[in-house]
Amino acid sequence: MIGRPTAAFDSESSGRYTAAVPGNVIQQLPPGLINRIAAGEVIERPASVVKELVENAIDAGATHISVDIEDGGRALIRIVDDGCGISVDDLPLAFASHATSKLHCDDDLFRIATMGFRGEALASIGAVAQARILSRPADQSVAYEIKNEGGLISDAQAAAGNAGTTIEVRNLFFNVPARRKFLKGASTEIGHLQDALLRLALPNPQIAFRLTHNGRTTMNFPVATPQQRWLAAWPDAFADAHLRLDVRDAEVSLTGLIGLPELAGPTAKHQYLFLNGRPIRDRFIQHGLREAYRGLTEPGRQPAAILLLVLPPQDVDVNVHPTKTEVRFRDSQRVHGLVQASIREVLLGSDLTPRAQPHQAADQPHVDLRTRLAEFFRSGAASASPSAAETTHDQPLIPSFPSAPPATTAPANAFSAPPASAASTLHSVMPAGIPAIQLHNSYLVAESEDGLVIIDQHALHERIMYEDLLNRLSRGPLESQRLLIPITVAATPGQQELLSQIEPLLGRLGIETGSLGPDGVAIHAFPSFLQRLDPGEFVSELLDRGEQEMLDLHQEELLHEILDMMACKAAVKAGDPLSPPEIEALLARRHLIDRSSNCPHGRPTTLSLSLRDLEKQFKRTGF
Ligand code: ADP
Ligand code: MG
Repeated sequence: MIGRPTAAFDSESSGRYTAAVPGNVIQQLPPGLINRIAAGEVIERPASVVKELVENAIDAGATHISVDIEDGGRALIRIVDDGCGISVDDLPLAFASHATSKLHCDDDLFRIATMGFRGEALASIGAVAQARILSRPADQSVAYEIKNEGGLISDAQAAAGNAGTTIEVRNLFFNVPARRKFLKGASTEIGHLQDALLRLALPNPQIAFRLTHNGRTTMNFPVATPQQRWLAAWPDAFADAHLRLDVRDAEVSLTGLIGLPELAGPTAKHQYLFLNGRPIRDRFIQHGLREAYRGLTEPGRQPAAILLLVLPPQDVDVNVHPTKTEVRFRDSQRVHGLVQASIREVLLGSDLTPRAQPHQAADQPHVDLRTRLAEFFRSGAASASPSAAETTHDQPLIPSFPSAPPATTAPANAFSAPPASAASTLHSVMPAGIPAIQLHNSYLVAESEDGLVIIDQHALHERIMYEDLLNRLSRGPLESQRLLIPITVAATPGQQELLSQIEPLLGRLGIETGSLGPDGVAIHAFPSFLQRLDPGEFVSELLDRGEQEMLDLHQEELLHEILDMMACKAAVKAGDPLSPPEIEALLARRHLIDRSSNCPHGRPTTLSLSLRDLEKQFKRTGF
């Protein structure tokens, strides 16, 4: 039953209202016009029609939904479903505005479980196109059809039809030329339409979906497992680079797939969010997701993720926006926390060390890796310079390494040891007692259990420093050193404003500043562990960056940004020669941090190559 009937079509309203109403007489708008205005909110382009009609088919319990499009949706949009159908008595109401079978009383609005509920879609579509519904509930012996041409609704008539519903929408916006003119080319409209359909298909793997354009099938999703269906949203190359998310309690669940950090990209195009089966956009969830990847991807990168959140309907208001893509949570902080913590836990529980994958997709060039390997072996055997290691001996290059063993032994020349016999393992290039060799003063190469690892010394050290700082901060403010003579730096009034806003935060980090009039600040204290750095330079850079990119950040994000900056600056650089004890100290700390594969800026710290990978590269195996 469709509830809340409103006045059906009023023939007076179909006309053109071109005559201006004189003066400021207030007039009730005729229903036809109201519907056309309402249509403006939800029906923007063919994709919106598809979204509304497919939502209806899903609500009707369909198991097969096909969408046929002609000319990008300008000529025809046809949705065929095998759902519950609309009885002949209800057909006239289907096109009436505010007529829905999905809400019965006020309270229902607060526990909406269906996709639709506003009872406006069909009325809106009928107002701006030539629409036809053909429907037969399974228990009705014949199908009936009803038409709506720009608001002019026909009587229901018997017609031939299968159980279920077919809705045809022809000549979209035929009576709203301004809109029709703004439709884009067929391929653009089809792109939007595919995206809309994909977003409806992802959370509904139990339903088969098919899309044809001008008779050609362009999307085909058979009934599938959730994981199979989700993967359809991503490029094939992601198929082995994701983790499964599955967190549930009695009321709430968060399931889906998250991409490995290396899949994160410049845009959010591989992110799909669903709330109670409904595609949504939500900045809290997006932010929680990004936070979960903090330190694992470069800042600003958007992780790939398909997140399906289920909350009790009364905890969310979906009636915020006509297209229902925006929602309001009763407790958005809780949702943010849930998303962030669950994803973080999955990420930290997995081995994220990017593997060099020589056996990737066949069409990927292998040259790169092979060249790098060849270079590695060549330089390891021939070009490494022992003098580099010697010069580092008395340079305290690795600060805050309390556990570094004293550099007693003269720096061993890693390469003077005669190569062991040509055994098939890597022992031949890694003399005993040497934890790793440094190449080009930038990379450390060490043996791992099943192969070898190549470590970016700066990235790893930065990562260790970052974790270390975070750890120390959890115990209290960072140890700070008062400067005998305050250091002054230039600062605009805007920068000073920023400084005063983040003063408590800086206090926790051991930085103390004070104003020096309109164009300068004084630094009174600076963190002890950053003693290698020039406080003036650091604070100037903080102010510059702060003005450009930190203004909108929350305190917590800001803290991480500044920690990133500190860790980056305090860490050894590429090009810094390290002595063997320093290398050893660095590697010893590698296992102390819970996630050593990425530096805070998100670049990998470590690349690992298994013997198997090597054997494949050297064609020792048949693969
Ligand atoms: P809403 O979905 O918000 O209820 P619509 O205008 O989209 O409003 O649809 C109006 C009513 O028409 C729905 O409540 C439903 O009863 C009926 N309806 C629409 N499409 C279908 C369909 N494919 N199968 C069965 N019933 C449908
Ligand atoms: Mg609907």
